[in-house]
Amino acid sequence: MKISIVGTGYVGLVTGTCFANTGNDVVCLDLDERKIARLREGISPIYEPGLDELIERNTRSGRLHFTTDRAEAHKDAGAYFVCVGTPSGDDGKADLQYVLAAAADIGLAIEARPDTPEGTVPPIIVVKSTVPVGTNQRVRAAVASKTSKRFAMASNPEFLKEGDAIHDFYKPDRVVLGVDDEAVGEALSDIYRPYTRRGNPIIIMDIPSAEMVKYAANAMLATKISFINEIANLSEAYGAEIENVRKGMCSDKRIGSQFFYPGLGYGGSCFPKDVLACIGMGRESGTELQLLTAVHEVNQRQRRTFIGKVESHFGADLSGKTIGIWGLSFKPRTDDVREAPSLTVIEWLLEHGARVVAYDPVAIETAREQLGDRITYAAKAMDVLSGADALIICTEWSEFRMPDFGAARAEMITPVVFDGRNIFDPEAMAAQGFTYYSVGRRPVGVPG
Ligand code: NAD
Repeated sequence: MKISIVGTGYVGLVTGTCFANTGNDVVCLDLDERKIARLREGISPIYEPGLDELIERNTRSGRLHFTTDRAEAHKDAGAYFVCVGTPSGDDGKADLQYVLAAAADIGLAIEARPDTPEGTVPPIIVVKSTVPVGTNQRVRAAVASKTSKRFAMASNPEFLKEGDAIHDFYKPDRVVLGVDDEAVGEALSDIYRPYTRRGNPIIIMDIPSAEMVKYAANAMLATKISFINEIANLSEAYGAEIENVRKGMCSDKRIGSQFFYPGLGYGGSCFPKDVLACIGMGRESGTELQLLTAVHEVNQRQRRTFIGKVESHFGADLSGKTIGIWGLSFKPRTDDVREAPSLTVIEWLLEHGARVVAYDPVAIETAREQLGDRITYAAKAMDVLSGADALIICTEWSEFRMPDFGAARAEMITPVVFDGRNIFDPEAMAAQGFTYYSVGRRPVGVPG
């Protein structure tokens, strides 16, 4: 099928490339000329393991194209996948301006095409962006305002995780399709069959429910993180060890162990905005969401609680201190720093006079776009330790897990580590001569 992908970001680029890799003819459209120019040169604008090779292979085979030209992208497409951003608006509600602008473009393109004969499936507009319930109806109206020709609507929320996006796309736990016409569901199922051969389900439902599924799933995952962070703080207050508590809890199959780690709280482009969007939908519909309001507040407070450990160790005046940071991305295996806890920590350190030296395996350029030259960027993890008064671990990249502790201690002015991801064992850190603070566990080696 000829597929048009509207928005070539983390979701659109992975979706378009994976669709091309199963034999579809895909055009990826983006309004960002720099992004498209780089893609045409074979350079991926994002870091996502395995993506570069797939882009290269499918571009070479002639199945994957990149353009900024809407008419070129939209000509003859059997399906338009809308993958544009839906950031938080001022009031926390999803900002739909990009989705509605994309809809208007698609409407104009459909108007320029011959009408589809009755009895055949017309071009399908598939909203993959995470959108509030009711958005498909608004998209339908935006398209219909530009064309009187036949078209169909569908909701197809995306569940891929940055860092594992290709795997998730190829082996999704499920594909959710919201449709109001059986034939449309069948046509979209055909596109997804190559990815669901192992029996993972394609779940077809009504459009509002499909829109809701994505928010409900992200709200649940965010709730797990805020829950375990709250239990971690309580454990720490009472001298319990969260790792023991977690293991004890997670052996209960009803609770499970996935996505249940204490730390600096969630970040990224999805959980924070999706929780806020749910709260916004609740406000708008008069359905107050008390639990999710608390989930959001707990998450914000978790960063402050962690920063409080730095403050109580050094005091609020950090002038003359150098603080090293390991990890800038909001999670490992991505260069995405949107809403990353590292940014909150770094802003606080800078406000309080510290000099900050940071390292991340892949997110230095994306972090530089946010932080500019207000901090120093190191080329290697060990480089941030040279002359550092403390190290703060913000992202649990696997390369941080087995450092040469002796060399690290020798490089630092004072061997103090604040671990926002609990990657080390407190007893081992104490034995190595470190003062070590983590989350939900007693600090060790604290002087005096
Ligand atoms: P992104 O910001 O990385 O990419 C969006 C792209 O859309 C940008 O490149 C932008 O230039 C482009 N764009 C904006 N308006 C356009 C238009 N009218 N025509 C063509 N291109 C346009 O966003 P993302 O992270 O890929 O997220 C996209 C959507 O998918 C969001 O709703 C998000 O919540 C959802 N989602 C994201 C993830 C994720 O892990 N990033 C996972 C699941 C769902």
